[in-house]
Amino acid sequence: MSSDLELLTRLSHELGRPDRDLVIQAEGNTSIRASADRMLVKASGAALATAGASDFVDVPLGAMLELLDDPGTDDEAVTAAFEKIAGTSGRRPSVESMVHAVCQLEAGATVVGHTHPVPVNGLLCSRHAETLASVVVYPEQIVVLGRTPVFVPYTDPGLALAREVRRRLRDHIEAEGAPPKIIYLGNHGIFALGSSAAEVLRITEMAVKVSRIMQAGLAVGGLAPLDAEAERRIDGREDEHYRRAALEGRP
Ligand SMILES: [Zn+2]
Repeated sequence: MSSDLELLTRLSHELGRPDRDLVIQAEGNTSIRASADRMLVKASGAALATAGASDFVDVPLGAMLELLDDPGTDDEAVTAAFEKIAGTSGRRPSVESMVHAVCQLEAGATVVGHTHPVPVNGLLCSRHAETLASVVVYPEQIVVLGRTPVFVPYTDPGLALAREVRRRLRDHIEAEGAPPKIIYLGNHGIFALGSSAAEVLRITEMAVKVSRIMQAGLAVGGLAPLDAEAERRIDGREDEHYRRAALEGRP
């Protein structure tokens, strides 16, 4: 097994652990950048918890880009492209492979994890969905998830979702000068954008914790967010930079 495949398998098992309650059955998917023009993505229908080497598909990023860029792409064209990949690799990649490609190509993520965590979806399936991306309630939230996550209102999974994610990612990068760590999808779930498998896990865990805290705050009368000045201070503080670097294993 290649080291990329080994890493992705380990991350998938971790995200699929029943006690984490992030996904059940064949929900969710993971990917890793394998080279400049290729990624490994979970196969459609495979369970993260038990995925083995044959449950990941080698996907050419160029093929995903062609689907996204061609205004004439329809469902049949997507099916044909995915069948072609299945023809060479034996398995059809996840329907969300185009979103994974966008996260890698537009946001520079090298490892991506998509899950449907219960506490996060509790908010994403409520009228407080956007709060996750717009309100900061405690310092660790900024350290791990950044100050400005991206929120995408519910969009049809597949091509439409990938295009909408790409549009919002580009807007975000233009406005903030850097890609987000997490994308919240209304009525759906999250994409964690990491530079390592460990970071994807940390982002996912923190999104779950923040969601629990927000649900608790909303249940006792409403959230008391940090003010913008406090957010900026935490984001810019030397000790927080040190903490981020330590979490990422950087010197
Ligand atoms: Zn999903």
